[in-house]
Amino acid sequence: MAIEIKDPELQEIFEHGIFFHGHLCPAMPLGIRAGLLARRRLGVERAKSKELMLLSETGTGHLMQCFLDGVMMATGCTYGKGNCQKLYYNKMAFILIDVVEEKAIRVALKPEFIRQAFKSPFMERRQQGIPPEMIEPEIAEATVNRVLSLPEEDVFKVSDVYSYRYVYSQEGPPEFCQSCGEVVFGSKARVKKGKILCLPCSGYKD
Ligand SMILES: [Zn+2]
Ligand SMILES: [Zn+2]
Repeated sequence: MAIEIKDPELQEIFEHGIFFHGHLCPAMPLGIRAGLLARRRLGVERAKSKELMLLSETGTGHLMQCFLDGVMMATGCTYGKGNCQKLYYNKMAFILIDVVEEKAIRVALKPEFIRQAFKSPFMERRQQGIPPEMIEPEIAEATVNRVLSLPEEDVFKVSDVYSYRYVYSQEGPPEFCQSCGEVVFGSKARVKKGKILCLPCSGYKD
């Protein structure tokens, strides 16, 4: 068995997604589908810069982390670009914001779908503590094929597109730490005994 994908854009993102994510699992492809769905409903391309902002309701925990990698792949919202933020609600959901047009959409996995998914042979093995890359390829592939082929309405709860204004916080000018000499951007420089210091040199936590 192999992975079968008919949608060419989904296929392309999936291939890059596997490379980026590192292993075959159902949550990452689900994130790709969810991100692509959100983007298409908003009528936007993958973010080249900060024109999209992703507020992910995910937190820590394997399933959610894999899911977010897929959403980042499909939307182009990444931690590096600063247009991806985790809200730590520990939910399988996110809000994708079109910063330019000031509108947003929320996508969540349907509870019925999640309940079913936890009964799959793949998830049973995960719950026994087997890492995804150690699960038999036939089982992983069958699970991934299933999540890629289920009808959208069986998997995702999608909001209407609604108005949303998102403003990125302004970055201050660069400062140079008077102890280590390294550059500090934004508001992260601290003043201690009259010296401008980076956080590690200041000894402050925040
Ligand atoms: Zn994964
Ligand atoms: Zn320093």
